[in-house]
Amino acid sequence: MFTYLDPTVRKRLEEHGKLFQIDRHGVRVPIGRRPDGTGISVLGPIPLPLRLGEHEIEVDWYACVRRTELGKIEEIADELRAQHGQTLFATLASSMAVNSVLVIGDPASWTEPLVRVHSSCMTGDVFGSQRCECGPQLEMALRRIQQDEQGGLVIYMSGHEGRGIGLWAKAATYLLQDAGENTYEANRSLGLPDDSRDFSDAGALLKFFVGNRPFRLLTNNPKKVNDLEAMGLEGITRVKHVTGVGDSNRRYLAAKQDWGHELTPEDIGED
Ligand SMILES: [Zn+2]
Repeated sequence: MFTYLDPTVRKRLEEHGKLFQIDRHGVRVPIGRRPDGTGISVLGPIPLPLRLGEHEIEVDWYACVRRTELGKIEEIADELRAQHGQTLFATLASSMAVNSVLVIGDPASWTEPLVRVHSSCMTGDVFGSQRCECGPQLEMALRRIQQDEQGGLVIYMSGHEGRGIGLWAKAATYLLQDAGENTYEANRSLGLPDDSRDFSDAGALLKFFVGNRPFRLLTNNPKKVNDLEAMGLEGITRVKHVTGVGDSNRRYLAAKQDWGHELTPEDIGED
């Protein structure tokens, strides 16, 4: 992965502990070891002062990428066999995707940190689109973690655009939605899975950063908790995370509710 880094730069980063590798179980492994294709290379911590509106937040950023492209291809084959193609689109769309971990507070002091695993959303997170509530959810997660006694972390999954179908297909689903389909129907019209997100990298990163400690997960989606538990993570307490509801996304949230998200009629403004 880092073949384009000058070897002396790479060596210096390794010596300073700023470039390291973890395996699928979140265990730090020697970087010189022959990559097995399932490890994650991590660069960080990188101090990243954030400004969100009026608020400033000090975070430590870690950039995280899968160890090899070869491993990626092998993994696609394995995942397709094991999951009947469910993650095909997420895996292809996230090829060489760099995930981010944003750490707030001192991990050494955590007993039950607050965690958000956030799926990337160009339109919501970056452009401020109100067709979904991703932007406000990300911002509120950072604020809640900052205000929490213990702090915690955000894992930003860069390959999760459109629940794993990628930005191009997401744009098409928006046009289908405007023709009357809901967010899940639109995916099916394009022959795409309802949800093809792969949380295995998030699982490994949580094992590394949180370890065996219990943690609180900011999500309304019980399936996300199940997916992480299936990777061997234990002691997850779900914490409701509702924000950014408005006229432009009420229908989208109602579809999420039908899909199993734990949202009450009051949450989405239906009295
Ligand atoms: Zn979104």
